[in-house]
Amino acid sequence: MPVFEPKVKSDIDMLAKFVHIYCRENHRGREKIQFYYKGKGRDELNLPHIMLCEGCFKLLNHGIAKRAMCPMDPKPMCKKCPNHCYHPLYRTKIREVMKFSGIYLVKRGRLDMLYHYFA
Ligand SMILES: [Zn+2]
Repeated sequence: MPVFEPKVKSDIDMLAKFVHIYCRENHRGREKIQFYYKGKGRDELNLPHIMLCEGCFKLLNHGIAKRAMCPMDPKPMCKKCPNHCYHPLYRTKIREVMKFSGIYLVKRGRLDMLYHYFA
């Protein structure tokens, strides 16, 4: 049985894109490592080749694990969810990432990539 439903996979894809944009634009000059997911089901994820700094690497791992374990079906927007599952530090960080990358994409006309996951 697959670990990730298709919907979860596409959410994870978006999450990775957002963290990648954020890290690329805000963490220039930091040492980067190629991202890989450390949790179960890593072979199922066809994540693009992305380089992240250590902090963003951890953040994305945390986010993927949380998305994979989300018990809500259908998943509500995180903002509206009664169960804030992110660690408070990561929660603050991911909101910053979503805001930054969301604005970044809007400015470039990439409305197709707009993401309401954390909106
Ligand atoms: Zn970073």
